[in-house]
Amino acid sequence: VGALRRWWDDRTSAARPLSFELRDGIVWSDALELNATEHCNLACRGCSHLSPVAPAHAVDPEALARDLALLRPVYRTRQLRLVGGEPLLHPRLLDVVATVRASGVAETVALVTNGVLLARAPDELWAALDRVDVSLYPGKEPSAADRERCRTLAREAGTQLQFREVTRFRESHSTLGTGDDALVARIFDSCALRDYHTLADGRLYRCPQSYFLPKLLLDGIDDGLTLAADAGFGERLRAFLASEEPRASCRNCLGTAGRRFAHVQTRRSAFSAHAGRPTEELVDAAYLRRSSGRRARSSTTR
Ligand code: SF4
Repeated sequence: VGALRRWWDDRTSAARPLSFELRDGIVWSDALELNATEHCNLACRGCSHLSPVAPAHAVDPEALARDLALLRPVYRTRQLRLVGGEPLLHPRLLDVVATVRASGVAETVALVTNGVLLARAPDELWAALDRVDVSLYPGKEPSAADRERCRTLAREAGTQLQFREVTRFRESHSTLGTGDDALVARIFDSCALRDYHTLADGRLYRCPQSYFLPKLLLDGIDDGLTLAADAGFGERLRAFLASEEPRASCRNCLGTAGRRFAHVQTRRSAFSAHAGRPTEELVDAAYLRRSSGRRARSSTTR
């Protein structure tokens, strides 16, 4: 069972989406993440968005409209994913969805939630979304009755709904990081998250961690690209998204190569203590070895 689980974990985490494709000079991505909120009503020990230690923050729909207007001439996505934190904590979530729809940046809009508040979401929200993805965390799952109610609401609204059990996490970051450039490069190279684009506060990021780690842990690091209206912005955006260099944040990030552990809720005050070890002690060396092996095999069969 352990080997089968490792194979499945590697297979799913190795399914790295392409960064983007170009159509008529416009970047198209598979997905763009927007943290509707950065705080959460749960405190998962392995939260890679660092929500257990994030101050309360909810995206402002008016500021979001300005950001999306800057983005639209040069960037579109097949799916904008409202994530968090817990997005259902946003007091104006319907306005956020309406802003995304009106922008024309995204073909579809999805909500990613822990499901705790989902059965109480208004009918209008179900109708406004194309898809809802629920992560079920052990001990914090919505009741069977609430899940059934969600299925009914989704069916009536014509919204896709998926429940997914999340029983294990990987270590996501190290507050001490590493000075080993080769290790940083291997973590970056194996990272299945490295092109999960994130929009936040007037800037675009290649991955969520390169937004959250500098904001909450790493002073003086800036891995984002500022949105702009000048004629050169499209070119800067394409170069930014095409870079194969590790980001500054990768030095403290484990990407998808952190050691695995069973999901557990933690005390917010204890959250950072787990990450207070060097990268070398938190990395899953076997995962990195398997990842290198896959790359070597794929390069010889090209
Ligand atoms: S910071 Fe680096 S290792 Fe972490 S998710 Fe982004 S690309 Fe991956």
